[in-house]
Amino acid sequence: MKVLLAKSAGFCYGVKRAVELAAKTGEETGGCWMLGDLIHNSHVVEDLARRGVRKTEDPAGLAAGDTVVIRSHGELKSVLDDLEARGVRCVNATCPNVIRIQRLVAQAEAEGRRPVIIGEPLHPEVMGVASWCRQPLVFDGPEAVEAWLDGDEKSREIPVTVVAQTTCIRKLFETSWKIIKKQCTNVKIFDTICNATHERQSEAAEIAGKADVMVVVGDRKSANTKHLTEICLRRCPRVVQIERADELSPDFFNGCTVAGLTAGASTPAGIIKEVYATMSEEIKAAEGKEESFEELLNQSFKTLNNGDRVTGIVTAITPTEVQVDVGAKQAAYIKLSELSDDPNVKAEDLVHVGDQIETYVVRVNDVEGYAELSKKRL
Ligand code: SF4
Repeated sequence: MKVLLAKSAGFCYGVKRAVELAAKTGEETGGCWMLGDLIHNSHVVEDLARRGVRKTEDPAGLAAGDTVVIRSHGELKSVLDDLEARGVRCVNATCPNVIRIQRLVAQAEAEGRRPVIIGEPLHPEVMGVASWCRQPLVFDGPEAVEAWLDGDEKSREIPVTVVAQTTCIRKLFETSWKIIKKQCTNVKIFDTICNATHERQSEAAEIAGKADVMVVVGDRKSANTKHLTEICLRRCPRVVQIERADELSPDFFNGCTVAGLTAGASTPAGIIKEVYATMSEEIKAAEGKEESFEELLNQSFKTLNNGDRVTGIVTAITPTEVQVDVGAKQAAYIKLSELSDDPNVKAEDLVHVGDQIETYVVRVNDVEGYAELSKKRL
């Protein structure tokens, strides 16, 4: 049996950043908290607990001086405001893509527009985003949008700003905003589906179309894993969603020649590797002919060369540099002096966390694993 492994399987940069930030905060503080699951993966949550990042579901139980890490999906604004008012230190590991949506809906309302969020109303990310405005409309798909429009003639004249949950299925979002655009008079649409999600969904669909059987690895609470399973089911007759390798049964692969493997954004590489190894029993016999898991993962990174133009997402801003995720192995950053010629300008005036930014590669250091970028040399 041949196993097709999705290169996009596993941690996205938002999840990776949240896990690293939590582990670092746990070490620095000698013990801190996460509010709810930092990411939707119980193995990672348990591992973090061993590293001093304990979980609580009760923000009211945190006291002044405690440190709490905010999960990648974000948190309710009222909870953050309350923690801050009571002197609890918040380390914000909310994914920059989610922060961008929170800002978009807040800004929309400040401009007199009604924010419309397409996503799962009870998902923590959507509830968090909705809390950044007073009167959000949340729809889980085109039918709910139609029901809203049919329910009140006047809704067509309200200025609306439409955003999507980062893990929304693209077709569902497009169908929804097209209905709104056709029927409403004043519409702004922001495609806020995360690129990492989109790439993962497209690749899963492509592999599912070639496979007799498809395995999707991820936590059962993970929305993006659930969406991957739904997408695969449209292309492949046999799909199984598992949390780890020991849930696989040999019967599942009876009569199969090609099996596909993908995983949600919060699935650690170690678990994917385990599942891949279990599925590859026959391939392992002919070891050497297939690419290793590490080789496949490495191929999924972009190669950077001096002088390239690359697009990335701003992931952090410090007083001296702007960190940018360009989908490469190296940690990439722009020094303040490479951002602008104006020595008085602040990075925050030019870019924000979550912005997409085009840059120029000044120097790649493969030995130390970093890349220097420039904005002003473009
Ligand atoms: S899936 Fe996208 S939005 Fe969600 S944490 Fe990962 S990078 Fe951020």
